[in-house]
Amino acid sequence: MNFVVTPPATVSVPVTGTAGRFPVHRIYCVGRNYEEHAKEMGFTGREPPFFFLKPADALVVVDGGATGTLPYPSLTKNLHHEIELVVAIGTGGKNIQAADAQKHIFGYAVGLDMTRRDLQGEMKKQGRPWCIGKAFDHSAPIGPITPAAQAGDINHAEISLQVGNQDRQRSNVSKLIWNVAETIEHLSAAWELQPGDLIYTGTPEGVAAVVAGDTMVGRIAGLEPLTVKVA
Ligand code: MN
Repeated sequence: MNFVVTPPATVSVPVTGTAGRFPVHRIYCVGRNYEEHAKEMGFTGREPPFFFLKPADALVVVDGGATGTLPYPSLTKNLHHEIELVVAIGTGGKNIQAADAQKHIFGYAVGLDMTRRDLQGEMKKQGRPWCIGKAFDHSAPIGPITPAAQAGDINHAEISLQVGNQDRQRSNVSKLIWNVAETIEHLSAAWELQPGDLIYTGTPEGVAAVVAGDTMVGRIAGLEPLTVKVA
């Protein structure tokens, strides 16, 4: 086939224990999915899950043991980290019930939902889309995907983020307001999930700013850590 411009390359993520790679289709993100984070953002209580998207080429793919580079983005003076469990969809579907969700999951990774908080806040105030605050280039660092069978009890895994030697975020995946299976149920009612979709499941409390020179280390028990330096 002849293309009139060069077609974009397929974005892919390494998979632990194999040379095979996971090709990325879409990146879905869940908003305010830990109670303590909802509170720090000025909200309370359990609300229905809501979603936004990032483009697949916003990923910063970091190999196991490597340090990724995140160029400090334009337009912001308040770049925030959000450590998140990422779910990789291996089998697509729509109207997936929570009880059936597990068989649609290929694996899990550690991800960062980087946020231009000042721009997101301005868009919220004006009732406009969050894209400029959330879906910018390099906004989605991710480490290798661990296949689900090797990830242990991910629904009760400790999740943490350190900047330098300082603890910034520390919680447990069990504190998700909408757990992984429930998230897949809600998400697949709105979109037909496809193999290659990634779901950033939301961040616990402790979100804060990073500046050029900072190194972030994200960890979720059972998965490969994610190390990213802000350039
Ligand atoms: Mn987030």
